[in-house]
Amino acid sequence: DPSLSSNSFSSKGLDASLLTITKNPSPPEPNFDNLIFGHKFTPHMLTVKWTKSKGWSAPEIRPHEDLRLSPASTVLHYGSALFEGMKAYRTHSNPEEIRLFRPDKNMERMNRSAQRAALPTFDGQEFIKCLRELIKLDRDHVPFQEGHSLYIRPTLIGTQDTLGMGAPQEALLFCICSPVGPYYPTGFKPVSLLAMSNVVRAWPGGTGCYKLAANYTGAVVPARQAQEQGYSQVLWLFGQDHQLTEVGAMNLFCVFRKQVEGEEGETYEVATASLDDGTILPGVTRDSILSLLRSHASGQNVLAGLPDPSKVEINERKIVMSEIVEAVQQGRLVEVFGCGTAAIVCSVDRIGYEGVDLSVPVQQDGFGDFSRTMLEQISGRQVGKISHPEWSV
Ligand code: PMP
Repeated sequence: DPSLSSNSFSSKGLDASLLTITKNPSPPEPNFDNLIFGHKFTPHMLTVKWTKSKGWSAPEIRPHEDLRLSPASTVLHYGSALFEGMKAYRTHSNPEEIRLFRPDKNMERMNRSAQRAALPTFDGQEFIKCLRELIKLDRDHVPFQEGHSLYIRPTLIGTQDTLGMGAPQEALLFCICSPVGPYYPTGFKPVSLLAMSNVVRAWPGGTGCYKLAANYTGAVVPARQAQEQGYSQVLWLFGQDHQLTEVGAMNLFCVFRKQVEGEEGETYEVATASLDDGTILPGVTRDSILSLLRSHASGQNVLAGLPDPSKVEINERKIVMSEIVEAVQQGRLVEVFGCGTAAIVCSVDRIGYEGVDLSVPVQQDGFGDFSRTMLEQISGRQVGKISHPEWSV
């Protein structure tokens, strides 16, 4: 949106060379027992203050502690808040080496969110330099076990201490880190979805394609309702035609079997909602999956475990519930899976829609060929089992 690009601030940019470090005098010992998502934190955090007149001040690493905010702070009244979610992983072959997965993508998205929220933008590469120092300092808190990682939560909030509505003249960029266990602590299980059309997560022209905190506020009650009805997550529908948009806080992929006339054998279509109407969060995992699938289909990097490249078609397009219902009836729905930083890939075995449960096929291990291959390919790159210097840094 070109109207967003005017959101420029002439004042001082974020500069990692000014970083100061105040060590925690009594850091807690690393403890990886009973890791519940986001319950334990590392001893330090990163903070960078911004004011409209002075720009970004020197970044600080300091003990993880409570923030002090005016009760008039913009964030507390108008929800000026946005965040990112990324992870650090120990390298498979050398646990002393810690990796990030495509952090540049998170920084790009965070800056797009900042523009939309009238919060200040910053140099993502400089922020990553500060983040590296934070992770280095708290490295003992990066779990070792396979499937475990350090969850990283960069956050930006408006902190101006006056109540007028408008672009905040003061802001705080900070980052906290939390050791986390695997998304499925008791082993992988496919999830069930309740397709909901009476609530909407995002709408064209809204803020769904930005990672604003406000998008998540309205998602809690529907998630609880889905759980009360025996489903694990919400399948967010949109529009009269019940478009499938996202699941919970993940992007969504559907795989259909297609019968192409005059062609022998089966072909597969992998489809995910396109990004062009602003209702879909551009996930880093979604982008990575699309890229891997496209290089498979083009024959550039053929992945074992997937059908022959000539039989795989990939589309970013509108997907509607009537198609899913029809594909289930005709036995052409091959797989449905969600994807995101938390779970990486999460296969779906059941969709509740208008009072009927639609079964989605899964194999013995709970996956399908596409979801299993994507999980292996993405997680392999995250921990350096599969070399990918551009993505895994
Ligand atoms: N959609 C929503 C609404 C999300 O919150 C997330 C998590 N960031 C995703 C999709 C997946 O994005 P990513 O792959 O970047 O984690």
